[in-house]
Amino acid sequence: MSVEPRKKRLNKKDAYKYMTRLGWDPTYQKEEDVYPYLKMEGIKVHDWEAWEDPFRMTMDSYWKLQAEKDKKLYSIIDAFAQNNGQKNITDARYVNALKIFLTAVTPLEHKVVSGFTNVARAFKGEGASIACQMQAIDELRHYQTQVHTISHYNKYFDGFHDYRTIHDRLWYLSVPKSFGDDASTAGPFEFMVSIGFAFEFVLTSLLFVPFMSGAAYNGDMATVTFGFSAQSDESRHMTLGLQAVKFILEQDADNVPIVQEWMEKWLWRGYRLLSIVSMMMDYMLPNSPTSWKEAVELYIEQNGVALFKDLEKYGIKMPEDMIKTIRAEKEHLSHQLWKTFYVHSTAEAIHTWLPDENKMNWLSEKYPNTFDKYYRPVFDEYKKHADKGERYYSETLPCLCQTCQVPLVFTDIEGGKPNVFTHYQNEYNGERFHFCSPGCQDIFEKQPEKFVQAWLPPHQIFQGNCGGATIPEVLKWYKIEHGVDNMDYVGSPDEVMWNKFKNN
Ligand code: FE
Ligand code: ZN
Repeated sequence: MSVEPRKKRLNKKDAYKYMTRLGWDPTYQKEEDVYPYLKMEGIKVHDWEAWEDPFRMTMDSYWKLQAEKDKKLYSIIDAFAQNNGQKNITDARYVNALKIFLTAVTPLEHKVVSGFTNVARAFKGEGASIACQMQAIDELRHYQTQVHTISHYNKYFDGFHDYRTIHDRLWYLSVPKSFGDDASTAGPFEFMVSIGFAFEFVLTSLLFVPFMSGAAYNGDMATVTFGFSAQSDESRHMTLGLQAVKFILEQDADNVPIVQEWMEKWLWRGYRLLSIVSMMMDYMLPNSPTSWKEAVELYIEQNGVALFKDLEKYGIKMPEDMIKTIRAEKEHLSHQLWKTFYVHSTAEAIHTWLPDENKMNWLSEKYPNTFDKYYRPVFDEYKKHADKGERYYSETLPCLCQTCQVPLVFTDIEGGKPNVFTHYQNEYNGERFHFCSPGCQDIFEKQPEKFVQAWLPPHQIFQGNCGGATIPEVLKWYKIEHGVDNMDYVGSPDEVMWNKFKNN
């Protein structure tokens, strides 16, 4: 009787490989027909098998892990709702940071779902495809958990209703929307760099971390929990993003200048998008754990710079000028943004307010070079008007940057003129376009046909595409209830609701 020799067990790496690789090369269809987007960006990939899966997770273990996370999150959200957790936050002004999050960030999570699904289909390598598919499902979970968590606040406070329409239509939300539209209409490799690098590195640390610690400092345990639940996926996403960038760089030397251009584009776009976060951190949180300036020092000047250094061996160069501008702007950004939001409050789905004496002192302490000199006098002036019952609301429409879509509120700090707005212009096909910075101008010049199509809210209003030519007509189209969702926090129904909570 002969005994079959025992088969050697595969090690984990090989087992995973056989489980996830179809090893299928199409024979009766041309490769470019099956994968039509692989060549359009000029990226050359010679060996898809060189893609290493950093996590080697199977769908089975993925579902179990994620279900565990959701179970914990939803039990905490339930407890928060049953105990009327909204009464334990520091102040109802804080809720406006959640309104910005739900209307600006949550829809982007959803956009990323379709983005990663497309990339999973577009890439030829199965390893890369599966990693992208899993991230698509993660992002869907983030989208859902954010909506579920924040929906509790919708029962008591204004401005959360119809957040999708608001995201698509409101002027300041065209900043995140255009960021997402730009990424998702790019080719698959640029998408990977934009989201894998800009989103996961620049945005995640400068958006999620300050936002979640802000929630913790202001008694919002429900938001802290969805934040942690999303962050636990984030380490996987950051690894994937970096893996993707390194993979593309290693495949061919011709890829390096293309990736360099994308990294600069998306670092700048990500940074401009974060200007909204700067004002949230410094002005919208009643208790601020850290200032915007401190966050920039940690996440951009230290971590961001270290990341670029790490990529130097692949031929990537540090974007020195950009880092210099970010460093120069760090002491001005949040103040310039909040000033703008304060005066344009009529056309916003949030409330704004003047910083009180405590907040102003905190700002003086955190911004010793700039706050008392440039910004405290402005807020003092607004206060004089408000105290007389003449709270100032601007009725003009600002000029927006064609690329980042932030109004031209930035000033020439590097040129030593912090009181002078920066404004750059280009002519293209006989039309004039405006920019906030050389960074945004540069992005336009590289892809003018893309950026001339930008949907700029003030232009759209003037062209009659936003419900009409008057403020009430535009607000109606925005789905903003005048006097309820917009204007100063003082005197708002939110304030009335909060006082009722406090007096019971
Ligand atoms: Fe996410
Ligand atoms: Zn710009």
